[in-house]
Amino acid sequence: MKPSLTRPGGLPPSASTPIVTPLMPSVAFASDTPDRLDDQYEGRAQGYTYAREGHPNADVLARWIDAMEAAPQPGLVTGSGMAAVSAVLLGLCKAGDHVVGGDQLYGRSLRMMREDLPRLGIETTLADPTDCAAIGAALRPNTRLVLIEVVSNPTLRIADLDGIAELCRARDVLLAVDNTFTTPRAVQPFAHGADVVLHSVTKLLAGHSDVTLGWVAARAPEHAKAIYDFAVTTGLTPSPFDCWLAERGLMSFDLRFDRAEQTAARLAEHLAGQPAVTRVLYPTRPDHPDRDRAQGLLRGRGCNMVSFEITGGRASANAFTKGAAGIAFAPTLGDVGTTLSHPASSSHRALDPKARAALGISEGFFRVSVGLEEPDALCAVFDAGLAAVRKGAD
Ligand SMILES: *Cc1c(COP(=O)(O)O)cnc(C)c1O
Repeated sequence: MKPSLTRPGGLPPSASTPIVTPLMPSVAFASDTPDRLDDQYEGRAQGYTYAREGHPNADVLARWIDAMEAAPQPGLVTGSGMAAVSAVLLGLCKAGDHVVGGDQLYGRSLRMMREDLPRLGIETTLADPTDCAAIGAALRPNTRLVLIEVVSNPTLRIADLDGIAELCRARDVLLAVDNTFTTPRAVQPFAHGADVVLHSVTKLLAGHSDVTLGWVAARAPEHAKAIYDFAVTTGLTPSPFDCWLAERGLMSFDLRFDRAEQTAARLAEHLAGQPAVTRVLYPTRPDHPDRDRAQGLLRGRGCNMVSFEITGGRASANAFTKGAAGIAFAPTLGDVGTTLSHPASSSHRALDPKARAALGISEGFFRVSVGLEEPDALCAVFDAGLAAVRKGAD
């Protein structure tokens, strides 16, 4: 930054450079001359102009996630995970197109499928991504794109990523994968044939529940450009400070993921032996319906999410969250602290009990996002919750 009349200070000279990425909240970037600006706009020089169009902190973060996902084209950081979903669906599709979505997508993604895309003249169909034939049956001649998540929320079913990728390739349909739950530590969807990969960086990648961000990258340059243009035009831009915080979070991502995954597997085992627990869902457990696929796709890894069901209805669920004091009952995932979600009263409350039952979600169903607590201490808190459930039942 050069000194000016309004900001006479400029930056102090330094022969050394910072080891941490500087935070650069500048909305505008000054050029020397109109000729230099031409150079930037015409690709002869690298530089920034206006923060909605791109800024250094977003690019530092984007390049890092690009590398983690082995993205074929540079990706884009957006102001939220839903901004990334929106940029994909609205940047790549037009009225008259048809889109197929997994039937257990993230709640707001489902809403886009059910309400927003049809309102804009884009037809949609939801289908079960664990069943490649069901996705195949949903494809139409005008299907432009299929959007799936690898691990479903909250029942932790595993999509047939390879089968769907093959189908999409054969039918010339774009495959977009929301990799938020699995993260590149477990699966890199581009290597399995995805055309677009996106994240809610808000969750495991940033990891501290203090920023809302997304990331998206495409295989083909024209798709990357369409996504970028839509995001920049509609203002889906992230805040530099959020990007800076997320970069700090990423530094410990591998360690956090490995630790949370180990503890999640341990917690799943622990819960499975408890009298008040009727069901435990975790991808590496022998009784998981997609265990073989999970073994192959996630390379033997699990994830930090565990779902389980307790006996009794809403009263039991209330007793559990009260008894398990010390675990935040809060609607997010991927935080350093373990969080507990109750789909029937939160993410899946819009469904009637029958539709929920069809997904296997009862009043006793909980989803756990395992954090970094000491595993024994964490299991003890769950034991306290389950003791409260049993006490209530007496
Ligand atoms: C949270 C989430 C989103 C939305 O991300 P935001 O950052 O909250 O906008 C999208 N997909 C999945 C799988 C999520 O968990």
